[in-house]
Amino acid sequence: MIGYWMDECVNDTGNDFYGVYLLYCLNPKYKGRTYIGFTVDPNRRIKQHNGGVQKGGAFRTNGRGPWEMILIVHGFPSDIIALQFEWAWQNPGKSRRLRHVASKKTKETVVKFRFRVLSEMLNVGPWNRLPLTIRWLKQEYKMEFDVDQQPPTHMPIAYGSLNKRKSKKASKGDFEEVKDVTIYKCVECLKRIKDPDDCLSCLSADCQMKAHLICLAKRFLMESDDTSFLIPIEGDCPKCYHTFLWRDWLKYRNRTDEDTSDTNSDNPHWAEALHQ
Ligand SMILES: [Zn+2]
Ligand SMILES: [Zn+2]
Repeated sequence: MIGYWMDECVNDTGNDFYGVYLLYCLNPKYKGRTYIGFTVDPNRRIKQHNGGVQKGGAFRTNGRGPWEMILIVHGFPSDIIALQFEWAWQNPGKSRRLRHVASKKTKETVVKFRFRVLSEMLNVGPWNRLPLTIRWLKQEYKMEFDVDQQPPTHMPIAYGSLNKRKSKKASKGDFEEVKDVTIYKCVECLKRIKDPDDCLSCLSADCQMKAHLICLAKRFLMESDDTSFLIPIEGDCPKCYHTFLWRDWLKYRNRTDEDTSDTNSDNPHWAEALHQ
């Protein structure tokens, strides 16, 4: 596998960037913990994780930093496909396609286990057909794929960080600007929103609607006649009634992080929580 160690600019191609990354915890108290997440902007995302919840970081990485983003898989054709990849990587035991993957061995470190799951994922459908790049962001954490678990040859292994997205403008829902989401109440369940990752904002410029991701997704799924969909296609804002595609709702959310530091996380992924 030919690799190169250089910085690359994510956004020069004009394509949307969807990445699923692996964080590694450097805090001696929590050392060895990992975190798998989805992002459209890795540079911004790692700052958020290390800045804590107030900066848009995940509830479950909060106060446990510093975190290092060691690996990112990118090149997903859509955010939905990247989010599905994220979920399966976080929950190999629950994914139909990964039933054959052995669970974490006692002596195996969490980060090695995450890497083993990734190696398996890259070799099964539908992921083995995607135009993905596997990128080591930090040389010192690089691991070698097993000889019989090499990624498909069309997937390059790259090294080095991705440069800042030049065309990125601050958008509504950019949590770097939002001080604290706990001031908001969900319009659906009327409970306070605790985690910026669970907070969806209306995309209309003059609408202040805030809701839990799960609450809004449930509402949208109930409104659609076809209940076979795993995730909603679109939905109307409960306040201003403007219709937006679900992917746009998600785009301006911070993201859906899931704590994957424990193999048996009792916090189900939102896509799963929807169907409980
Ligand atoms: Zn709610
Ligand atoms: Zn609205």
